[in-house]
Amino acid sequence: MGEYDYERLLDRARSLVPEKLFAKDRFNVPPVSTFTEGNKTFILNFKEVCDTLNRDPSQIMKYLLRELATSGLVQGNRAIFQGKFSDSTLNELIKRYTKDYVTCPLCGQPDTVLKKEARVTILVCEACGARNPVRAI
Ligand SMILES: [Zn+2]
Repeated sequence: MGEYDYERLLDRARSLVPEKLFAKDRFNVPPVSTFTEGNKTFILNFKEVCDTLNRDPSQIMKYLLRELATSGLVQGNRAIFQGKFSDSTLNELIKRYTKDYVTCPLCGQPDTVLKKEARVTILVCEACGARNPVRAI
């Protein structure tokens, strides 16, 4: 490998770094902000969480309701659950959802979409092109 090629490789490596850092930066999933009232739990920043994950609120809600085995609804920016749930429980579920349904298992990037093909839900990565079937929600 000549000196020139090596320099070019270095330049290329350098040019790739900021992009990766950026991708990581913008993927800080905010912790849930909650309050309970009577026998209900509210996630006040639910829409913000869904926007960060780039997923439809109704889909994440469906996942949470199934995992919590309760009922609830999305109302504006908030999610409302029947029952009392701690921040740590909700954050843990969102973390699991992110791992199973957002982050690409191959390259670790969050730039993914869920596609339904012949009854199978597939996590398609827009960064590396990987396609991984996931459990239907
Ligand atoms: Zn990927």
